[in-house]
Amino acid sequence: MNIYSYTKKDLENYFENIGEKKFKALQIYDWLYKKKVTSFKNMTNIKKEVIQKLNEDFKIEKPEIVKIQNGKDVHKFLFNMQDGEKIEAVLMKHDYGNSLCVSTQVGCNMGCAFCESGRLKKRRNLTVDEMVTQILLVEENLNIRISHVVLMGIGEPFDNYDNVIKFIDIINDDNGIGIGARHITVSTCGIVPKIREFSKEKRQVNLAISLHAPNDELRNRLMKINKAYPLKEVIEAVKDYLKLNNRKVTFEYIMLKDVNDAEKCAIELSKLLKGLNCYVNLIPYNETSHIEFKKSDNNKIMEFYDILKKNNINVTVRREFGSEVEAACGQLRSNYEEEK
Ligand code: SAH
Repeated sequence: MNIYSYTKKDLENYFENIGEKKFKALQIYDWLYKKKVTSFKNMTNIKKEVIQKLNEDFKIEKPEIVKIQNGKDVHKFLFNMQDGEKIEAVLMKHDYGNSLCVSTQVGCNMGCAFCESGRLKKRRNLTVDEMVTQILLVEENLNIRISHVVLMGIGEPFDNYDNVIKFIDIINDDNGIGIGARHITVSTCGIVPKIREFSKEKRQVNLAISLHAPNDELRNRLMKINKAYPLKEVIEAVKDYLKLNNRKVTFEYIMLKDVNDAEKCAIELSKLLKGLNCYVNLIPYNETSHIEFKKSDNNKIMEFYDILKKNNINVTVRREFGSEVEAACGQLRSNYEEEK
């Protein structure tokens, strides 16, 4: 087992099982995540027999960085996993802190028409340690502290649910990486049963829903998942989430030229979301060479924004990041795979 897959609770159980005090878990966390030690033998307050046992039971391993692309305020990383699979993570420097966009799967099966990640089908889920180490490697490489994490890289987080929850536990742990729950955002294309399960976890983590269309007819065309879980069910699940969690939900809405950016879409969207404790994040589409969708014109985005505002929907426009570094979700990996 890779030790970066273990929550503090898992480690406490481990130590109890081998007849050791469970506070050792805290010491190990301190070595791994605060002092950033990468070998058990350097954990100097742990006795020899325990170190030997740890060496037998665990490895401390991180993937390797294959490629980094640097842009203004954005750094894009391509990692090579143990089995040779590649995934990516994107660091964005905001005025409020450093935010890392983390991948959760190798490829994606959701098949959204506009998305680059989904062009390469899912090959497997990422393990917990493969998600945790994306953060450690980027912090180490850029010599920065990451304050925010968004699960918006390659993959559908709710299609790798159990690992994602463990990952959140580890990075949120004060003795671990210590990223505040309110600084962590999980984004889903709308897998309703998992939204419901997540609601019951009652974590302070932010939930974002990729909506991208205000009606089923259009959403079916853009997002295959809508055929399994149509809008009405998604909205119902969000309503129930809001009842159980005192948090605003974010709806992501990519602005696709002449597809979903018409005035009537904005009006329809306002009606759909009326009265919900939410806000809409309008995302200027990141164009990619393989997919024919185009980004809406800026004035169109602003018109859309104004209509939502007028209808009392909280709305923001996402700052554009990294188009100069192939930052469209999944682009670095898919281009790399194709060049090989
Ligand atoms: N599978 C999850 C999380 C990963 S995608 C989800 O669907 O939410 C993160 C966000 O980026 C989603 O809203 C997704 O629809 C959006 N996205 C995908 N391709 C994009 C592109 N080329 N430009 C802008 N946003 C994109």
